[in-house]
Amino acid sequence: MPVQETTDPLNTPVAMLRGVGPERQAQLARLDLRTVGDLLLHRPRRYEDRRTFRKVRELALHETAATRGHIVAMGTKRYRRGSRSVFELIVEDETGRLHCRWWNLPFMEERFQVGQELVVFGRVRDLKPVTIDHPETEIIEGDEERSLHLHRLVPVHPATEGLTPRYLRWLVWQALERFGGAVVEPWGDAGIAGLPSRIDAIRALHFPGESGEEEQARKRLALDEFIGLQLGIQRRRRNLQSNAAGLPCSGDNRLMRPFLSRLPFKLTDAQTQVLRELRRDMGGAHPMRRLLQGDVGCGKTVVAACCAIMAVESGYEVAYMTPTEVLARQQWQTLKSWFEPLGIPVHLRTGSLKTEPADDTPTEALRGGGLPAVTVGTHALIESGFAPPRLGLVIIDEQHKFGVVQREALVRKGRYPHLLVMTATPIPRTLGLTLYGDLDVSVIDALPAERGRITTHVRTEASLPKVWEFVRSEAAAGRQAYVVYPRVEEADLQTGLKAVLQEHARLEQTLSPHRVGLLHGRLDAVEKEAVMGAFRDRRLQVLVATSIIEVGLDVPNATVMVIENADRFGLAQLHQLRGRIGRGKGDSTCILVAGVRTQEARARLKVLAETQDGFRIAEADLQLRGPGELLGQSQSGLPPFRFGDLARDLKLVEQARGIAAQLLDQEETKRPGARCTPGR
Ligand code: ADP
Ligand code: MG
Repeated sequence: MPVQETTDPLNTPVAMLRGVGPERQAQLARLDLRTVGDLLLHRPRRYEDRRTFRKVRELALHETAATRGHIVAMGTKRYRRGSRSVFELIVEDETGRLHCRWWNLPFMEERFQVGQELVVFGRVRDLKPVTIDHPETEIIEGDEERSLHLHRLVPVHPATEGLTPRYLRWLVWQALERFGGAVVEPWGDAGIAGLPSRIDAIRALHFPGESGEEEQARKRLALDEFIGLQLGIQRRRRNLQSNAAGLPCSGDNRLMRPFLSRLPFKLTDAQTQVLRELRRDMGGAHPMRRLLQGDVGCGKTVVAACCAIMAVESGYEVAYMTPTEVLARQQWQTLKSWFEPLGIPVHLRTGSLKTEPADDTPTEALRGGGLPAVTVGTHALIESGFAPPRLGLVIIDEQHKFGVVQREALVRKGRYPHLLVMTATPIPRTLGLTLYGDLDVSVIDALPAERGRITTHVRTEASLPKVWEFVRSEAAAGRQAYVVYPRVEEADLQTGLKAVLQEHARLEQTLSPHRVGLLHGRLDAVEKEAVMGAFRDRRLQVLVATSIIEVGLDVPNATVMVIENADRFGLAQLHQLRGRIGRGKGDSTCILVAGVRTQEARARLKVLAETQDGFRIAEADLQLRGPGELLGQSQSGLPPFRFGDLARDLKLVEQARGIAAQLLDQEETKRPGARCTPGR
């Protein structure tokens, strides 16, 4: 949104409008409507076409329609000594009578009077007599108001206890009349080609002249939101480029060469290509800000490791952050096995666990002639004030839950280290530009060769015995399996946990003598590590887990993934879970189990059976469930949009990006002296 100064008339409190006393003001505040500006952007929930009303006789069964007439009778019936009641009123037009009923809302009676003219909107549930239960109604008073509430597309704003849509409509109208003139074009007088001006958009949002206008209005207001956001993103990026110098971290290959020659595999062309981009960044004039995308299992870790080596070679320390402790421990072990032979110390620091050599003064190692350290930890690592003086590179693994601002806060510790962000979920482009608009993007677009195939099946619970039989036979053949249950939610933590515990006990019997481990979020770090260790060392053949294993775990010998109640997961999340298998040379099998009753969900799951392409799956998930769900609701890092819709506004986001860049260019040429010394 454009920044509004305190003198902006749009910041006038709603109390200044006609008919808003302290009580109204408090009610409006409950809808977050405090200023005239808030009111102007209060987006209608829907529109009602009151240009033509249905005659009562024309109403069809089960249809939702608006009709209109005068109240000719009303009354309340009580049942069971007054504990249940139905209030009924009859509206009449020249073609017939419509019965409106409200159950157990006796106070409704006080709202109406016989003789009033009423607009009724609702679903016709009966034709003999014509009846609508719990309709929305609006009393039409006085001629003056007819122009506002009738004979047009009428907005129905989100309302609240005591505030009717009708009142809000009137208030918005008033706000528009008195303050419409204060709405300016935020990005220059020329406006936006092809879209209405901002004030016209606001007018049409509330009072569209014809249908279709409100969508154009929405687009314009969405574009303004996106431009505001892109300005912030790009401004931050430009500031970084003009104020912060890049630390020289491209290395000299003295550790890289032995590292690569010891690896049990050769980097793929895709990995090598990306690495070249990263090396250029890390030796560049400005701090690297790069997003590394690549489907699950494409081998992002080893690329990150190469970056770490470059930084270490250059004399800088590295922080490697993961979203969970389990993953921190796994990556710590991987990096340790790769780095310790080279003499690079690898530390682990997590919130709950500091038993590992948590060397608080790694510079001592430097003085002693040793190499700078790589420290692995959760996000708590940086938030807890971990900030070694020679931090050269921050790697954030498997994260898509931090917004731009948080991300910048994470690395703004003294000097500006290079930043490499790796995403687990392939991000559809609208989200990418919104969440990662400040980052350059590299993509690893191919999986290592010699990967086995993953076959995905969708099954009902009835097939479970066969599924377990299959798991037994795979285990007998020396392979391993995951069995996943939906995340244990806060709400049903107790029952959810119990379910996993029970399933675990049951599977121990069913699959005996194969050994079945259990992993869930309620275990402490040591317990988790013990279980993961046992699975990695093949002392456990089967791992029963909550979706805690969704991110990053890497056990190549695991080739079977059974996901129960799969319909409760999003597609992108299922794709992540499936990414835990298919990591070795052998073929793998993923079995999605969902109840028969959830036909729709099973159809959704078929998408997974059909494609392995994470981008297609993420795109489908975005369309089906929206960005919040795709990213993990509460911490998605997405700003709240009133008008923007990331599932369908790609064009607008791209347009906003271009406009924001232009605006910033203009800003820079206007400011004398700015950017006259390139590279500073
Ligand atoms: P992700 O991109 O999902 O983080 P990982 O980095 O965990 O994937 O890599 C998945 C597996 O692939 C690991 O076991 C890793 O050692 C292996 N791997 C990575 N690069 C290659 C390669 N070039 N050739 C063969 N295997 C590889
Ligand atoms: Mg990974």
